[in-house]
Amino acid sequence: MAVIPVALAGREYDVVIEEGLLGRLAEAAAPFLKGYGAARRVPFVADTNTQRLYGESVAANLAAHGLAAEWFVVEPGEDAKTWGVLEKLCDWLLAMGVTRKDHVFALGGGVVGDLVGFACAITKRGCGFVQLPTTLLAQVDSSVGGKTAINTAAGKNLIGAFHQPSLVLIDPLVLATLPDREMRAGYAEVLKYGLLGDAAFFAWLEANGTKVLARDPVALEHAIATSIAMKARIVAEDERETEDRRALLNLGHTFGHALEAETGFSQRLLHGEAVALGMVLAARYSARRDEISVDDAERAARAIAASGLPASLSALGLTCDGAALVDHMRHDKKAEAATLPFLLLRALGEAYVARDVDLADIAAFLDGELA
Ligand code: NAD
Ligand code: MG
Repeated sequence: MAVIPVALAGREYDVVIEEGLLGRLAEAAAPFLKGYGAARRVPFVADTNTQRLYGESVAANLAAHGLAAEWFVVEPGEDAKTWGVLEKLCDWLLAMGVTRKDHVFALGGGVVGDLVGFACAITKRGCGFVQLPTTLLAQVDSSVGGKTAINTAAGKNLIGAFHQPSLVLIDPLVLATLPDREMRAGYAEVLKYGLLGDAAFFAWLEANGTKVLARDPVALEHAIATSIAMKARIVAEDERETEDRRALLNLGHTFGHALEAETGFSQRLLHGEAVALGMVLAARYSARRDEISVDDAERAARAIAASGLPASLSALGLTCDGAALVDHMRHDKKAEAATLPFLLLRALGEAYVARDVDLADIAAFLDGELA
């Protein structure tokens, strides 16, 4: 078991990691559980997968404590992060009688967490919520840090708020049912923490990544706890990404978003897969600038390839050129500029924000990688 505090003044909360936590939810989340009405109903939001897989055990545990889980269930996938679903969810919470002192429970991956977090940021001008993340990505990344959002026609995560949860309960056992491809996509974000800020953790992942992906309990808990500890530290230092600190968490994401845009944000390339490849590109581009050695860049690429994540741009079979990918980056940042801030590596385990990167040079570099 690990407990990691997120030290935000006045809004501290704990991230608890323990096997079987979901089955002991009523005990683990006791201070945040209040039943509404005579039936003592508690609001839960899930998608059809997480409700089907874990809804019953959660409900049984609550029932043993005299509480009744009440469900708002969405379809799996990004379509749940829309105005329409948000409106229905907020109406449902109001109908339940949720007040600012109450807590809503989000049982699912990043989609459910982002949707619930935003609904709770605006319902009654802000009610509480508890994250019960069920994907590796949500367990190491999206459930902690308070970024909440929905998507609109103009793009992903453009409407949202910073709203921190009151508690995050991570039960690694639920990853047993997560499809392997989703597991690997979440693992890309784990590798990211090693590459951006912890060389020893990166080396540990090189040696133990297979165990993490195989859901070995000890390795998995260490990987999740180390990832969350770093995210918690960074969020506490720079909650709203006003300095470069929180931006470090975007390692691999500028290249990655361009790849997601080029592949139409489709199943062809999951976010984590795009980030994995983005990190390879960031490492190779850092080597091109002589900031790390070619050997180190290839070491990063090998760690990514070894976990079954995409590590080469040419293997993706894209038909675009480097300039097209750079256009996506410019569009992403709504910038016409010739330069963009890029997350690059000074060493394996040390990322920094470079502000002198020439986009024409990025396009030329990408042409080489696409060939
Ligand atoms: P997701 O929530 O769509 O879940 C992926 C799939 O796995 C879904 O089909 C889901 O039903 C299924 N699933 C979830 N848990 C399962 C389990 N235990 N067993 C079997 N199937 C399970 O995807 P995700 O990768 O968790 O999250 C992606 C979202 O997170 C994106 O919308 C992204 O914008 C957001 N995100 C937010 C932050 C943040 O800081 N708020 C950070 C990163 C990503
Ligand atoms: Mg990410």
